[in-house]
Amino acid sequence: MQSTKTPMNVTILRRRDSCHSSSSLPEGYKPQSSRDSALSRFLRRFRSNASSTYDEVLKAESQFESEEGNKPDSFDLECVVKRIGQGLQQAGLCTSQDFERARLGAAGDGHLRADKVLIPLGLVKERQLAEIYSQVLNLPLVAPDAYPKTPLFPDLLPESFVRETKSVPLALDGPALMLALADPLDRFVSDVVSIRTKCTVRTGVAVPFELDSAINRLFPKNPAGSISRKDLQNDLLLERDIERLKDMASEAPIIRLVSDIIQRAVEMRASDIHLEPNSKEFVIRYRCDGLLFDDGRRPVAEAPAVLSRIKIMANLDIAERRLPQDGRFQMSVRGTEIDFRVSTMPSTSGEVAVLRILDRTAITFDFERLGLQRHLVEAFQKALLHPNGVVLVTGPTGSGKTTTLYTGLNALGGTIRNVVSIEDPVEYRLDGVRQIQTNEAIGLTFSEILRSVLRQDPDIVMVGELRDTETARTALQAASTGHLVLSTLHTNSASGAITRLRDMGVEGYLVAQLLVGVLAQRLVRRLCIYCKRQGGEVEQTFNRLGVTASLSNVATGSVWEAVGCQYCRNTGYSGRLAVGEFLEPSNLVRELILSNADERTIRAQASKDGMITMLRSGIDVACTGETSIEEIVKQVGRD
Ligand SMILES: [Zn+2]
Repeated sequence: MQSTKTPMNVTILRRRDSCHSSSSLPEGYKPQSSRDSALSRFLRRFRSNASSTYDEVLKAESQFESEEGNKPDSFDLECVVKRIGQGLQQAGLCTSQDFERARLGAAGDGHLRADKVLIPLGLVKERQLAEIYSQVLNLPLVAPDAYPKTPLFPDLLPESFVRETKSVPLALDGPALMLALADPLDRFVSDVVSIRTKCTVRTGVAVPFELDSAINRLFPKNPAGSISRKDLQNDLLLERDIERLKDMASEAPIIRLVSDIIQRAVEMRASDIHLEPNSKEFVIRYRCDGLLFDDGRRPVAEAPAVLSRIKIMANLDIAERRLPQDGRFQMSVRGTEIDFRVSTMPSTSGEVAVLRILDRTAITFDFERLGLQRHLVEAFQKALLHPNGVVLVTGPTGSGKTTTLYTGLNALGGTIRNVVSIEDPVEYRLDGVRQIQTNEAIGLTFSEILRSVLRQDPDIVMVGELRDTETARTALQAASTGHLVLSTLHTNSASGAITRLRDMGVEGYLVAQLLVGVLAQRLVRRLCIYCKRQGGEVEQTFNRLGVTASLSNVATGSVWEAVGCQYCRNTGYSGRLAVGEFLEPSNLVRELILSNADERTIRAQASKDGMITMLRSGIDVACTGETSIEEIVKQVGRD
């Protein structure tokens, strides 16, 4: 799970926790609307719901009259909203100007509350706002595992009610019902729930996307709603008519469908969205933690309009459907500005698209968040302090190599060294680093840029990838003339990087002389914190998986295993962390490099010199319960 910093005095409501009573609302807090409008809203909701009887409405009315809190008295919601603004400023989430901007925007938009427009304006994230609500109103924050497995009071609080009011009953605690609310300032909802269920209601603050995904779980339905199939097919008779396609792509149902697809992907913490029509269906898949998940099939007739919509967003030519195109667009999803890189490609069954999700805020360049083991971070950071030489990060595609390099550079921040990076493409901007993007079409290759950059007196040069012989040789030459060169290579192990450089035609003496260190890494999935369980002994697990690594020095005892729950889509895992090995060549290893020794020999010597292999390091991580031995063996191999 993505852990976010929680302000100090926020209580988290997990299952079986007790809630604060809603009577603990701060002084000055009053229901959102005056009694009359609250009651009329209440009546409207009740009347629109077929399951309510007239008796219930009458009863509700009299209850409203009798309740102390509903007397039409001085109404000071503004004061609470102001305190929320102050809370956001104190937490450094929003400047007073931003909040003022939101307040004015809200005022201009009818009677909206300032805090309600912060998310759509992209000023604050949903979780941050929820934490501030919790703090200011002194209500517990609802944890994702606090939601029930089946709906509570489904007859009294049906799906329509739950969706409309953005509230979910969590559990009964004696006569009290705990209720998760997306808008805790709307006390009207808890009043209605209290009347309907005849329970005292205690409120907790929900993070809206967690609440929404709980609702979708409790009341499964097609997430993107439905579009009239007949309409689509009628329109698609004229599919070749580009103008028509453009119109369809601008129509509300398609816009909503696309934004639902994107929103869902972001909520699932996916890295990519795949939109693939085949001859029968339109398949939507998300990549989460490195694996593809099928997220439903839609009528194939919808595909051209959806693809066109995405192409319009990314400024691509919607008339061109026979050539691949690349583009990007930005969109605010639940309060976070997110970049999407779009790539479309023709296929035999129609055009397909892949959207890469680049959430800058999800990348924190923090070793703690990457999960890289402490001894690796220390060795890597020490290597980055060298005045010259080569530091490499290796691993397969998607193993987080670049993020680790960025994180290392970021940690150097504030030093007085001149840092230049050459990348293809520049995905994340780094403060204090001059980033240059390659452009092969006009001859701006890695090696070309590298040569010019070296004339500009850099101290540290980061080269996105040692992709070809020329780049590798130029990089090593730069290292030999007093620069520290950082780069990545596609190899599975640290020792593999050495032989790869040699295979690319870099002279062994340069490698032996200039290599400061190699960090090889792999991403492994983290066990879901809500469902993981202890099971089995290390030794038994090794035997079962056919691991031959020596057990000496491995912490023995029980290990953890994946189970699967609603939160982790029944995979047992959620999020990923990096495991790795760091090879710092000893004199003996340098001699082996000079004598063209093979990978295995170099690796054996490095282990003798004290290198902790990736498998060993991964097993140590598994013994702490962060991941499973199965996952380590799957990603790292059996050694
Ligand atoms: Zn789980």
